[in-house]
Amino acid sequence: MEKVHQCAKCGKEYKTNGHWANEKMCEECFVSRTSRHVIAFFLGLLSFLVLMFVGETYGDPKAAAVAAVYFFVCQFLLSLDNKAAHRNWTLMLALNFVTIILTIIMVIGEKWPTIVSQAPIFLIIPCTATYLGAVMASLSAKRKKGRRS
Ligand SMILES: [Zn+2]
Repeated sequence: MEKVHQCAKCGKEYKTNGHWANEKMCEECFVSRTSRHVIAFFLGLLSFLVLMFVGETYGDPKAAAVAAVYFFVCQFLLSLDNKAAHRNWTLMLALNFVTIILTIIMVIGEKWPTIVSQAPIFLIIPCTATYLGAVMASLSAKRKKGRRS
């Protein structure tokens, strides 16, 4: 049976039927949201390899700087044109998922001096930079909307 719903994201009306049964979002928005989360997860995975490489080769301060720029830029681009980006916790979590898990593993397996020296690079800086990236994207989306109207 077909039912008409209004998409919570884009506001367009769409139908749910045998093929599409999601009652909150149209197919287009759902696919773009899901692929965004998948991309965020892989960017997080890649960040770990990048940070390990930079940390080993150039030292921890450089790795910390790379972490800040990397997560800020990734989240900013992922959140582009999203006014509510700073409230999109699942996307931020997807980007930081790998680093959060690794930090937990590190806390369980490593000694305190290692944890204290690595945690800022692998958890505190990425999470902070991610949030700032989302806030900046949300501000720029609001500004763009304001200019248009
Ligand atoms: Zn939609």
